[in-house]
Amino acid sequence: MDQDCLFCRIVAAEIPATVVHETETTLAFRDIDPKAAVHVLVIPKEHYPDVVALATSDPSVTADLIETATAVAEEEGLTGDGFRILFNTGRFAGQEVFHVHAHVLGGEPLGPMLALR
Ligand code: AMP
Repeated sequence: MDQDCLFCRIVAAEIPATVVHETETTLAFRDIDPKAAVHVLVIPKEHYPDVVALATSDPSVTADLIETATAVAEEEGLTGDGFRILFNTGRFAGQEVFHVHAHVLGGEPLGPMLALR
């Protein structure tokens, strides 16, 4: 655990979160500032700064993360109309929290993936 990491502290239950799904290796909780009708963050319990570090170090937990994200999408009723899973990675993507997290977004039309050029 990284004592300075917000999401590690959520895993340790030092900071509250609205948990919607938990496995041995992953945790899913509602985003505190939702960008869609449904906005859930899915994280590995172990600390990796971003998806590159996770995928490089632990392919098995990477698979667990995707499995949990799709389970959340099913539980939240998103699979019929569609949804988005995204990983902001690094500065250009605007990553703010450096504990890898998948955003699961849906529950309404999400618009274009990026602003039109
Ligand atoms: P990113 O920009 O991809 O790093 O996303 C970080 C996300 O974490 C943002 O959508 C924030 O709203 C969310 N967030 C920050 N603090 C918390 C918190 N305490 N509980 C839940 N979500 C949070």
